Amino acid sequence: MSFAPADRRRIGISLAALLDALLSGPAYADTPLIDPPSATTLAVNKAAGANAPFTDRRDLDFAARGWLGSRKDPLIRAADGHVVWNLDAYRFTDGPAPATVNPALWRHAQLLARHGLFQVTDCIWQVRGFDIANITFVKGDKGWIVIDTLSTIETARAAYDLVTEKLGKRPIAAIIYTHSHIDHFGGAAGLAGDLLPGAPVIAPQGFVEAAISENVIAGPAMSRRATYQFGMGLEPGPTGTMGSGIGLGSGKGSQGLIPPNRIIETTGTELVLDGVRVRFQMTPGTEAPAEMNLGFPDWKVADLAENANVTQHNILTPRGAVIRNAKAWAEGLSEPDLFSWYGR
Ligand SMILES: [Zn+2]
Repeated sequence: MSFAPADRRRIGISLAALLDALLSGPAYADTPLIDPPSATTLAVNKAAGANAPFTDRRDLDFAARGWLGSRKDPLIRAADGHVVWNLDAYRFTDGPAPATVNPALWRHAQLLARHGLFQVTDCIWQVRGFDIANITFVKGDKGWIVIDTLSTIETARAAYDLVTEKLGKRPIAAIIYTHSHIDHFGGAAGLAGDLLPGAPVIAPQGFVEAAISENVIAGPAMSRRATYQFGMGLEPGPTGTMGSGIGLGSGKGSQGLIPPNRIIETTGTELVLDGVRVRFQMTPGTEAPAEMNLGFPDWKVADLAENANVTQHNILTPRGAVIRNAKAWAEGLSEPDLFSWYGR
């Protein structure tokens, strides 16, 4: 990790403290590097608290709906024992917002801090809060259709183990990658041992090229810039990181892709996966260079990948991802008839 001069000035960091922080790893929040909030920060946060409709608790209700429980051990570890993900890292958000944090950001972190297995519909479950993204399990005739596989082998495995504990052991009959961001495919190898032989592994057109472009060719530069975008190195806390917007942060685990063996190229394509009818909608150049939405016509359920979530859409990312086409993105969300049951 390196700091630009402007960053050193802004957080009042000395060279000695910087060296100490670098050598001691990510425990920055424990070091006295952070100035107390300014009068302006205090005033802005106070005004935000006064103006936001915090008595409206529908988001909290939505985030709790269908919860079936979570993992008993909050620490997800790698084989060598190091902690990949701490489910309790944001428990500090249980109380009211402190003066250092915008109350709306505090509420957002409270929503993201809910973790565990959630039932979405009769046949669809999600494990949330085990990674920056969610992993979805769709019940087929023989096994699970898994939609997106988290960032790391360890968190994907922990999610699958939780599903097995709560819902019983089932093999994986298919994997669908909605798009080419690593938090949606990096953990796939953690599921390989339970993937049925010959099972379809499905991705949108351009997936492999986009994944390699972002994570291998541009990987070193982009991962360096991502340390700024995601506040890597900051500890979770009221004077540290409050999450990454779409999720709470990145796990410190290992990655392994299972290459797709079935590429979706055309909007309207339908497949029957393990007895379940799935319809696809191509949305290239939107939230990712290669992305697709999908739906389950027989259940009137749509999965809008990462094209729709409750955060501000990111058109030009600080980490340097390919610029996103806002018009195509909007059109992808409003394409008529494809998921007409969805009420658009
Ligand atoms: Zn994404």
